[in-house]
Amino acid sequence: MVLTDYHIHSICSNDGHHSMLEMARASHEKGVTTLCFTDHCDLDDYLTGKPDPNCFSNRDRMLDMYAGTLPEKPEGLSLFLGLELGEGNHDPARAREIAATPELDFVLGSLHSLKGLADFYEHAYRSEAECLKLVGAYLDELIELSRLEFFDVMAHIGYTVRYMRKAGFNADVSAEKYPEKMRELLTNLITRGKGIELNCSGFADPLIGAPIPMADVLRLYRQLGGEIITVGSDAHRTHQAGRGLADGLALLRQLGYGYITVFEKRKPRFIKI
Ligand SMILES: [Zn+2]
Ligand SMILES: [Zn+2]
Repeated sequence: MVLTDYHIHSICSNDGHHSMLEMARASHEKGVTTLCFTDHCDLDDYLTGKPDPNCFSNRDRMLDMYAGTLPEKPEGLSLFLGLELGEGNHDPARAREIAATPELDFVLGSLHSLKGLADFYEHAYRSEAECLKLVGAYLDELIELSRLEFFDVMAHIGYTVRYMRKAGFNADVSAEKYPEKMRELLTNLITRGKGIELNCSGFADPLIGAPIPMADVLRLYRQLGGEIITVGSDAHRTHQAGRGLADGLALLRQLGYGYITVFEKRKPRFIKI
């Protein structure tokens, strides 16, 4: 089984805890053979929802740490440099400018907050009705994001689920509940040559116990002709390295997928699973 991880964070992310080298070594120990760092660059401040002019101030640190990690990396591990670029639909020109950083192999397009609001992680949810309204708005913004060209793969469709469940509300982001929006979103990505990710962080999360996006979204994506799919642990600490990747691959096989995708210099390459 070939384990690839195209979503992992280091201390170049505000919520990261370990260096790229430490994350690379921990991933290698878990059997990962291809790893792409995707540290955060969120266009908006996660608390205020206002544009953050310093959102990419870690650029040089990230490039330096990556360059310093390459000669030290474990043998047999291929390393790449990506970015998790958040809220690109809030300022597409800025997103395009950041994503054009020539050193990047891969850009994840994320959405952690709606326009003018705090990160879903920070929001105080009060009712199921409020959660459903927010999920509808979240999907609308994802659709907006899906029309933009700056990224390669849309990250964690259904990011909201964890925080709403934590507050005691069930607001699943499923293809069954949102057939039209989901179809529009996935079709936009497919026709523009973009992919989705299978974010494996949900498998081990007792609040979720499932991938992000949910299996029915992964099924619909394939039915609609989607082929580009990356797999990621979204690890922020060494003990989370490699988490769920094998479960993710098993699920993809079960759903009839024959390949996963890796990126180098923004070009997809397919690996048989
Ligand atoms: Zn994210
Ligand atoms: Zn992430």
